[in-house]
Amino acid sequence: MTASFPTPAGYRVLERRDISAIVAEVDTLADKLGGTPDDWETSEISDGNMNAVFRVSGPEGSIVVKQALPYIRVIGEGWPFPVSRIAFEAEALERQLAALPGSVPEKLHYDESLGLLVMEDLSGYRVARLAFVKGRRFANFAEDMGAFLAHTLYRTSDFHLTTPQKKALAAGFAGNSHLCQTTEEVIFTGPYGERPFNRITEGNEEIAVRLREDSALKQAASEMKLAFRTKSEALLHGDLHTGSVMVTDTETRVIDAEWAFHGPMGFDPGALIGNLLLAAISQPGHADAADDRRAMTDWLLETAKRVWIEFDRGFRRLASEDRSEIFPHDILDAAARDAIVDRHLAAVFEDMVGFAGAKMIRRILGISHVEDFEAIGDVAMRAQLERHALRVARRLLLERREIADMDRVLAVLAEER
Ligand code: ADP
Ligand code: MG
Repeated sequence: MTASFPTPAGYRVLERRDISAIVAEVDTLADKLGGTPDDWETSEISDGNMNAVFRVSGPEGSIVVKQALPYIRVIGEGWPFPVSRIAFEAEALERQLAALPGSVPEKLHYDESLGLLVMEDLSGYRVARLAFVKGRRFANFAEDMGAFLAHTLYRTSDFHLTTPQKKALAAGFAGNSHLCQTTEEVIFTGPYGERPFNRITEGNEEIAVRLREDSALKQAASEMKLAFRTKSEALLHGDLHTGSVMVTDTETRVIDAEWAFHGPMGFDPGALIGNLLLAAISQPGHADAADDRRAMTDWLLETAKRVWIEFDRGFRRLASEDRSEIFPHDILDAAARDAIVDRHLAAVFEDMVGFAGAKMIRRILGISHVEDFEAIGDVAMRAQLERHALRVARRLLLERREIADMDRVLAVLAEER
């Protein structure tokens, strides 16, 4: 973690006041904003952990400018981090757009030497996680995210690509390895030991000690780490939690693919469903006199279930319509193909359940906590709800081979309440 990484030639960290001059040099961006640079307003909108993000607004439009810093923004220069990650984000954005048009913001410009990605401003959208904390529901969320998962995972997998295409895709993203290694540390390892940035809510010290001494749990988390390291099944978003999804009442867009790599298919749905379960479990902490949040909790649980169902349905449909190399029609009939897809999705489901559990634990015992719980002012209540999440997550990791469907996942949540 103390290694430092070379920055591209010409790289410098940009301040807010530097942005408009850079934008002005790119005609397509300047045209989009309208007027002259004197008419433009730049504001910093970073609320994530990693990068600097700015919005530039002009008389005719606005854009979002994201710069990768050579370190982790919230920690600072003490945790160096490769600027090259933004090249993988820019490439992943194109792949996601190709897999499912309209699922991501439009890419407007990429500057490798400055580590800069300029994209469509999703103005009027909000970050799904924060909207869930406020008790907001979105009718198309499950359908849209199920379609995003089905299309991005199917179309970048061996089910669809030729062998040379798949190998080239995996090789192209292999260079994002430092981010993979970081994921392994902060998700599958760090939460189970003493780490300088780990944080535990007051009142949860005991359960943290217990989980850190739980050999079966640590073995399960390590098995998920092994799956994360070894499976090369699809191009993943790599960090598909509810903070990487932006929504309006009718639209859904996925952002922030800087952790992208060719990995296990269960990882993205596991991240999303694990975070939806965290959102559901945290809801009682946001109840007030006007809203007990029961309906919101039910909606989140139903949404978690439907994300999987829509993904599963979409994936099967894409497989049945495809004419790909893996299922030669002169050799294999439709029944055999469907049976292979069936077995594969069952294996992805098992991984998804394990990854969901690991993702939930890391948000409570690890370095990076989530607003779902952080926004609960009553610390005793927050700690109690976090313990519920930890018990559920532990069972998901340990029982992932027996848990057959989302109804069973939701049953575990109810049993541990
Ligand atoms: P990080 O990698 O630092 O977490 P994100 O890509 O998640 O950065 O962006 C940080 C925040 O900036 C997001 O949570 C969102 O509020 C805002 N944001 C990012 N991209 C866009 C966009 N295209 N349109 C509008 N807001 C955006
Ligand atoms: Mg990020």
